[in-house]
Amino acid sequence: MNLIEKCLGVLYPQTCCFCGKVSKEHICKECSEKITYLEEPVCKKCGKPIRYEEQEYCSDCQNTVFFYEQGKSVWLHTGSVRWSVYQFKYHNRRIYGKFYAQELFRLYGKWIRENKIDVIIPIPLHKKRKRKRGYNQSEVIARHLGKLLNLPVNARAVVRVRNTKPQKELSHKERTRNLRDAFRVTKYWNERGNVLLIDDIYTTGNTVDSVAKLLRQKGANKVWFLTISIGQGF
Ligand SMILES: [Zn+2]
Ligand SMILES: [Zn+2]
Repeated sequence: MNLIEKCLGVLYPQTCCFCGKVSKEHICKECSEKITYLEEPVCKKCGKPIRYEEQEYCSDCQNTVFFYEQGKSVWLHTGSVRWSVYQFKYHNRRIYGKFYAQELFRLYGKWIRENKIDVIIPIPLHKKRKRKRGYNQSEVIARHLGKLLNLPVNARAVVRVRNTKPQKELSHKERTRNLRDAFRVTKYWNERGNVLLIDDIYTTGNTVDSVAKLLRQKGANKVWFLTISIGQGF
């Protein structure tokens, strides 16, 4: 730790990513007892928790054909996790992205290597939204993760060309329509290999799968995803 970092540590002490209280670790003792990491059984496709091992897939994945291969998340999107991701996205707690990436690396580093990922691509924000927020939260995670894995991050390969409404405000049908033609590849897309998409939350999978579909149409081999949190699968 250099002097500047020491001074910053006094001015801005590290806080727990799940309650905001000053804490030596990224997760304080109280929260570490409360927060549950996703555990088996989870859906073999999207990674949502499911009720029974024999089920294999959640009800969404049983009835849908996705363009991505498989995805995984760290936590269920509820309680303190929901709070944490909200602060990370809307209250400039970019610093949480470092811890999220460390957890993704710890839990799924081996899985990423096994899937022979060539490039990491964060789900883009529309440029207007990015300007307003100041950063793309998925890119923050992707950059930290790329460093840990020594893998390239291409945040310019895909752009969001339509400023879509937040998915959570829409019905299932509207969601699909909302995302149709929402993304485009750019001249910076020149990969032909396996892609790992990074997003903050996985709900219906429409966002991740729209980008997976596009990239596969444009020559990607296989597309995988990782998110921080995910909805319940039953
Ligand atoms: Zn805490
Ligand atoms: Zn599923």
